[in-house]
Amino acid sequence: EWIDLAEITDNSVRKIKLKANDKGLQLKTHLGDHIPLIYGDGLRLEQVLLNLLENAVRYTETGEINVYLSQDPSFVYLTVVDTGIGILESELPNIFERFYRVEKSRSRQYGGTGLGLSIAKKFIELLEGELHVSSVIGVGTKFEIRFKHKEKQEDTR
Ligand code: ATP
Ligand code: MG
Repeated sequence: EWIDLAEITDNSVRKIKLKANDKGLQLKTHLGDHIPLIYGDGLRLEQVLLNLLENAVRYTETGEINVYLSQDPSFVYLTVVDTGIGILESELPNIFERFYRVEKSRSRQYGGTGLGLSIAKKFIELLEGELHVSSVIGVGTKFEIRFKHKEKQEDTR
């Protein structure tokens, strides 16, 4: 099926909004225009985005969560930026492993099973996208889903 990323974004943001507001966090969406459709399983993508948003809310105490849908000539980007506790650079390669959680004490405090990101990574691969993360301790974390623009098909008929 062809997926409208703006619709997916709205759906997942709607589902997480109450949780964010309950924690006093603002949740803002920034949707670019003329974003091309992506081919794949929309429900899977929504699940991934929802997991990124749940993480953002879970690991942020103050500030805001911003969701961007944007593009440049190479990629379409779906980005979740939080102002949370951040992840040590040395931990970044591990967070996509099944059941991996940063620090035991922190895991106890925040709950969760450590499966979310491993599933997210798998699903994004199935959608032929990429999942990137960058983070600064005490400042926040950015997760970025990238989809390569499809080459324009030559009409050979
Ligand atoms: P689950 O998603 O299964 O409920 P989880 O959130 O702990 O549990 P993942 O979503 O796989 O598991 O995330 C793995 C670990 O990466 C988390 O335990 C957390 O330590 C860290 N992490 C993920 N997202 C963020 C974030 N936005 N800010 C800070 N740390 C994060
Ligand atoms: Mg999670």
